[in-house]
Amino acid sequence: MEFRDLKSQYNKYKIEIDSAIQEVINNANFIGGKEVNTLERRLAEYVDVKHCITCANGTEAMTLLMMAWDIKEGDAVFVPDFTFFSTGEIVSFRGATPIFVDVDKDTFNIDTVKLEKSINKVINEGKLTPKVIIPVDLFGLPADHIQVEKIANKYNLKVLEDAAQGFGGSINGRKACSFGNAATTSFFPAKPLGCYGDGGAIFTDNDELANLLNSLKVHGKGENKYDNVRIGVNSRLDTIQATILNVKLTAFIEHELDDVNRICILYTKNLKGIVETPVIPEGYVSSFAQYTIKLKSKEGRDALQAKLKENGIPSMVYYVKPMHEQGAFAEYNHDDSDFEVTNELCDTALSLPMHPYMNSRDVNFICKIVLKSNY
Ligand SMILES: *Cc1c(COP(=O)(O)O)cnc(C)c1O
Repeated sequence: MEFRDLKSQYNKYKIEIDSAIQEVINNANFIGGKEVNTLERRLAEYVDVKHCITCANGTEAMTLLMMAWDIKEGDAVFVPDFTFFSTGEIVSFRGATPIFVDVDKDTFNIDTVKLEKSINKVINEGKLTPKVIIPVDLFGLPADHIQVEKIANKYNLKVLEDAAQGFGGSINGRKACSFGNAATTSFFPAKPLGCYGDGGAIFTDNDELANLLNSLKVHGKGENKYDNVRIGVNSRLDTIQATILNVKLTAFIEHELDDVNRICILYTKNLKGIVETPVIPEGYVSSFAQYTIKLKSKEGRDALQAKLKENGIPSMVYYVKPMHEQGAFAEYNHDDSDFEVTNELCDTALSLPMHPYMNSRDVNFICKIVLKSNY
């Protein structure tokens, strides 16, 4: 059994994907071109924002925004404590300070009450200037963007939606990647919409920001690549990745998002009441980058993972370590008691196999092992 089965997806779309790749090779046009333009237009349309700017990966997508907003030393950026390292890394990379905020025990997304407390604490200390909030759509579930927006407006902060895992999710019909001043996603192969290597994208309605990002990602270009008006980076999505994504985006829209939600219903029907199953608030849709359950203890979680492994079932611990405990952030001297929920989740959460090509037999088999185990 695969944790995320990319081979079944390829086998289903082999003819389309192979011929799309072959066409790029035949044309010998490997950078930019109509494939990238088409993908950007289709992604913007799907998410319902004005601009999509593709780039090299999800981390650089966020870094480009930090550059565009001139985030630097002395600035505070608010980041959930329970997320992939990137979300905090891109802040420190600019010399700014990531302020980690605990998450909600049900949604695993940034706790907006603790967020506001954190902002006030930074203001009262007077050492750093609060600038940006980065809510993460963890495991495919959109963060509470409605509340985050209220807080951002109140304190005059920018919002970057980190939708690396969130593409396809929505709140009351409004799609992930459309919240905040700008949003980013990742096309890392295992994300809800993945390519065959690295890739990422930025979404925004702001024309000026879109122009700036299009310059920053190509060496700070002005009129053209050889007219350089600012310091930028080289961050492009390869044409081959774009052409693969054009095929996969169609599959994602046509059935994959529905398929993972069907798998979720089957899992939850079997497991509800036995372990803590994912909480999807009213009006929210998750794109299920992960299906993550919560056990009663670390011992129980680790024992279940071992039992699943014995039965040939892969599972993953996302995340082993909270952000505030990462060695790279040691200089900030965090108080462990500020992160009660994240600390608990790192001990008790377990992600089970989840992808659009899972069959119900596998789901039922996994659930049988979990049910037999009593953790
Ligand atoms: C994967 C991920 C990223 C980084 O994306 P890459 O394309 O791997 O650089 C950022 N944030 C979160 C929450 C992620 O899961």
